[in-house]
Amino acid sequence: MKSHTRVVVIGGGVVGCSVLYHLTKAGWTDVVLLERDQLTSGSTWHAAGGFHTLNGDPNVAKLQGYTIGLYDELERISGQSCGLHRSGGLLLADTPERMEWLKMAHARARYLGLETSLLTPSEAKKLLPLIEAKYFVGAMLDAADGNLDPYGTTHAYAKAAKIGGAEIYLKTPVTGLSRRTNGTWDVLTTEGTINTEHVVNAGGLWAREVGRMVGIELPVLAMEHMYLVTDDMPEVIEFNRERGHELPHAIDFKAEIYMRQERKGMVLGTYERACVPWSPKTTPWDFGAQLLEPDLDRIAPSLEIGFEHFPAMARVGIRRVVNGPFTFSPDGNPLVGPVQGLPGFWCACAVMAGFSQGGGVGLALSQWMVNGDPGFDVWAMDVARYGPWATRSYTNEKVRENYSRRFSIRFPNEELPAARPHQTTALYDVMLAAGAVMGDSWGLETPLWFAPPGVEPRDVVSFHRSNDFPHVKRECLGVRNTVGLTEIANFAKYEIAGPGADSYLSRLMTNRMPKVGRIVLTPMLNPAGRLIGDFTIARAAPERFLMWGSSQAQIYHMRWFEAHLPADGSVRLHRFDMGLVGLSIAGPRSRELLARLTDEDVSGTALRFMDHRGMDVANCPALVNRVTYTGDLGYEIWVAPEYQRRLYERIRTAGQDLELVHFGMRALLSLRLEKNFPTWYRELRPIYGPFEAGLDRFVALDKPDFIGREAAIAEKAAGGKLRRVSFAVDALDADVLGDEPIWHSGKVIGWVTSGGYGHYVDRSLAQGYVPTSLCGDLREGAFQIEILGDRRRASILGEPLFDPAGARMRM
Ligand SMILES: Cc1cc2nc3c(=O)[nH]c(=O)nc-3n(C[C@H](O)[C@H](O)[C@H](O)COP(=O)(O)OP(=O)(O)OC[C@H]3O[C@@H](n4cnc5c(N)ncnc54)[C@H](O)[C@@H]3O)c2cc1C
Repeated sequence: MKSHTRVVVIGGGVVGCSVLYHLTKAGWTDVVLLERDQLTSGSTWHAAGGFHTLNGDPNVAKLQGYTIGLYDELERISGQSCGLHRSGGLLLADTPERMEWLKMAHARARYLGLETSLLTPSEAKKLLPLIEAKYFVGAMLDAADGNLDPYGTTHAYAKAAKIGGAEIYLKTPVTGLSRRTNGTWDVLTTEGTINTEHVVNAGGLWAREVGRMVGIELPVLAMEHMYLVTDDMPEVIEFNRERGHELPHAIDFKAEIYMRQERKGMVLGTYERACVPWSPKTTPWDFGAQLLEPDLDRIAPSLEIGFEHFPAMARVGIRRVVNGPFTFSPDGNPLVGPVQGLPGFWCACAVMAGFSQGGGVGLALSQWMVNGDPGFDVWAMDVARYGPWATRSYTNEKVRENYSRRFSIRFPNEELPAARPHQTTALYDVMLAAGAVMGDSWGLETPLWFAPPGVEPRDVVSFHRSNDFPHVKRECLGVRNTVGLTEIANFAKYEIAGPGADSYLSRLMTNRMPKVGRIVLTPMLNPAGRLIGDFTIARAAPERFLMWGSSQAQIYHMRWFEAHLPADGSVRLHRFDMGLVGLSIAGPRSRELLARLTDEDVSGTALRFMDHRGMDVANCPALVNRVTYTGDLGYEIWVAPEYQRRLYERIRTAGQDLELVHFGMRALLSLRLEKNFPTWYRELRPIYGPFEAGLDRFVALDKPDFIGREAAIAEKAAGGKLRRVSFAVDALDADVLGDEPIWHSGKVIGWVTSGGYGHYVDRSLAQGYVPTSLCGDLREGAFQIEILGDRRRASILGEPLFDPAGARMRM
């Protein structure tokens, strides 16, 4: 075995082999894969081999499309058959809600360039005669679906990687990992030690154990999964003879089953409600090419429905039952990318659909390693999307929930209950008593809206406007007309201090740093000039900055901040997490309210828009920012958690005769839409440039140096391909949710990033990206946005509908 290499990939399942192949493809040939036993000897060998493009996140769907398109290339390069069956697949809807969901998926597929079509039940039955059509209201056909041979495909990746220069060592378990002082890794194996610059954890069923070798507990858990293989079926034989091709795949959401042809019979798998984790604490090292005991009773409820929906399946004998484990993260998407705090340690694990996702994971990770950037928007599978709160027991609860809901609809206003409440602030019970309906924001309970007395605080889940509509409206009007109070503990908060803090932040951020007592807004770019952050920065002292950003991106951002810290110790970086919590008051009477709580001068001249001050508020030592995301006069008041309750009580009491209202996240998001404000991960993502996103005024191109400056200059000169715009939409009873296609002159030309109802301006609103050449088309109804299958007229708004001059923020 070699003693030194550039990359060691741990694990020879489909994912590790894909990473290895993609590394060679990206030009790194001094790469090694270490496999404990034989290739495929984790979860890969017993997979059912199905592949499909459907995913709740469009960016992951795109990577799934890439994976499926890759197999021909792989067969060509390796000379190894992947055993491909490109049969297409049907997604069967049993309710109008499920059909609406399919219509959304179909609309989304348009701008992803995927080939789908909507069918009636009888059209679906023509393609798949096994269906009892009366149980369904419609279907979607996805032409890209199919299945393959897991063993052949994994070996095709491995052969192609070897042709590219990679080496693979079988029967070589990794037993430990240690980091040298020069930053390289020693990979200890039973066959000796390899020193390497990068380690990739593609340990599949053992990914947790490999993580523990470097002191981390990855949020990943294996679940038992069963599928049946039937005897030959006359219906299948007849279909093949008549049509000359195989039956398409099918997913029956109601029965929670998937099906496909296998030889002259069928494979039928379930994602049953009564699901069972496998080896919840540790995976035995001697587990290999073995299966688990089948438990047909557990999947009987799914089979009962399946037998009604596909009567021929009830008549056929079962040849074989496979029960095997494979891994999931809490949200079901992979864990990919560099691990914060462990330079050179990368993850490619929790891949629950290795044959749909493995290629995309390999491509993204290899580009990330070779170029410093994955080259796509991989947020939905970035390992950094989880914080330390995603413990093993949290993961266990969430994975079980996710598995059992694999074929359930997730409504846009639906909050999932497992493992909640997890983190709460000191105001949790107070907010509940005030009628709050809570949502989960990066593990923290956060008020979404407030039910008034007599109204049940509960969401009725729907794709349409729902029961919260009049209450969110009341909250929005309260803010705009008097004053509102909301909890903002869920923001990310950081402190950057030390003699090097100014130049450090100036290099990371596109904007100039503020003077003491002032605040700036600033994007952060990667070297390619794409948006990787959006922050509010206040200068509290000459060498001390406070910074606020997106809560979900805290670990993602810490990874970037740490990677760019100067080595001389001149910058101290601190993430407050829940050590700093906040309340925001906003609306025309918010100044009067603040003045009642402090003896400081908070007049418009003493505490100006974008000012930052330390002051006593309600006797608490507080940091006050004169800024709010509502686009109104308003203040953020930040305190240590032990003061939050007192601060809240005092604000509430002092605000009573000012008609103070509570407002939640949903009102806040509606208010920001009225101002055309963008939000991180919807409008602002690493696939857009700052000029495309309309952040021109926060990019100081005349600053001598910042990361991404060259690319930003080039983007500005070229004008950018896309432009973020806001629309007023002629919606009926459903507003846009995000990811809907935008039409212009009969063609799909862009996509919606977010939207909703602007309650104060009384219009349905959307934001999205369109080609720069079309952003000036301000004609009424020049665009259409597809909402639940209907194309609704949409008009670009040249300016925000609320307070276009920004006078309210500055009053
Ligand atoms: C019953 C069943 C049906 C499935 N059906 C489908 C399907 O239809 N379509 C689909 O896309 N997916 C399916 N899957 C899921 C699919 O199997 C997984 O997504 C895929 O196998 C994950 O591959 P992996 O490489 O991440 O993990 P694994 O296959 O578990 O590979 C990990 C490898 O790492 C090695 N390893 C671990 N630790 C070490 C170490 N310390 N040193 C050296 N080597 C190590 C292991 O030996 C193993 O070979 C199914 C799974 C099951 C169980």
